[in-house]
Amino acid sequence: MNSKAPYLLTPGPLTTSLSVKQAMLKDWGSWDGEFNDMTAQICQRLLSVAGAEQTHVCVPVQGSGTFAVEAVLGTLIDPDSYTLVLMNGAYGQRVGEILEYLKRPYMVLDKGDYVPPRGFEVAQLLESNPKIEQVVLIHCETSSGILNPLEEIAAVCAQAGVRLILDSMSAFGAVPVNMADLPCAALISSANKCFEGVPGFGFALIERQWLEGAQGRCHSLSLDLYEQWRHMENSGKWRYTPPTHVIAAFLQALKEHQAEGGVQGRLARYTRNRDRLVAGMRALGFQTLLDDEWLSPIITTFLSPSSESFDFTQFYALIKQKGFVIYPGKLTVADSFRIGCIGQLFDEQIDAVLLAVSHACMQMGMTVPVPAPNLLSPQLKTA
Ligand SMILES: *Cc1c(COP(=O)(O)O)cnc(C)c1O
Repeated sequence: MNSKAPYLLTPGPLTTSLSVKQAMLKDWGSWDGEFNDMTAQICQRLLSVAGAEQTHVCVPVQGSGTFAVEAVLGTLIDPDSYTLVLMNGAYGQRVGEILEYLKRPYMVLDKGDYVPPRGFEVAQLLESNPKIEQVVLIHCETSSGILNPLEEIAAVCAQAGVRLILDSMSAFGAVPVNMADLPCAALISSANKCFEGVPGFGFALIERQWLEGAQGRCHSLSLDLYEQWRHMENSGKWRYTPPTHVIAAFLQALKEHQAEGGVQGRLARYTRNRDRLVAGMRALGFQTLLDDEWLSPIITTFLSPSSESFDFTQFYALIKQKGFVIYPGKLTVADSFRIGCIGQLFDEQIDAVLLAVSHACMQMGMTVPVPAPNLLSPQLKTA
């Protein structure tokens, strides 16, 4: 076993820098002015990354990303209005599950495991269902790694006069989003993905007018983002105990994000990681689930080779011995596994993981290049 902590090739929590971890060595009082100033700086910076300073407000909320999604849906959606959920994987399904819990009426466009929802289908649905007042889209559906066609869908929503709620959890910070051009009423993300902070809070960038009119809608006391926002506006403080160390680490992570060239810098490194990984894996005989057009620079799904000798549990353990943690797949149509490109990963780590993959295949008794995958679905095409 490698004595160093393994690199996480997972879509968050991910490998953070030493300086981000070191930012957590000090204890902060939640009533302290210096701490509240950190929160204000973070909110300001997040709005600026999205080009949303003029139109939106940033509201952070304690918990993991799902808490932020639930808080946004519960706070903003009028209980009598209809929502269209665009599903193509586990995170879209989770949005549906949350709406079930909240007893908010919704419709679904379910494209299965990895096929993208397209603008024309959304336009048709909105036209035949005028009751729909908001659409929820997952930006990068992390369960397959697909980058969904955001601009196309945002344009269709704007044309129909319907609000777009974007779960950009695993994309914001590395995939450009410019709210000045993009009609998007709410964007949700969290600390521990492309900004490379540690887990502990999520946040939403919400159109000021929508939030201002949302008093009293939320089903939950602690997830009420209207109240969280009002409290922060009035006092500068979080409503209940904030994740102080996580906030300090996130401010450091934001500085490093900016120093790397902001969204463009991060996108460039993640894209380079993804391209190097995919090229190397293809050279070893592995196939990606998705056509190149749909691959995100966040995480890539690879199909398992059709060999009696391939066993994911063993594969995972052998790669972990070399210092890398990969991710199991989440598909119903084919056996697969995922490898992430986000976090403190560079050429050196990508090359090392490729070497670890090739060694693992040989240790399991396979030849390299590995045999092609055995497709359970005859039509593994995204178009
Ligand atoms: C990570 C993620 C979430 C939130 O997951 P948590 O485990 O609650 O942090 C939501 N949506 C997407 C697309 C994600 O990648």
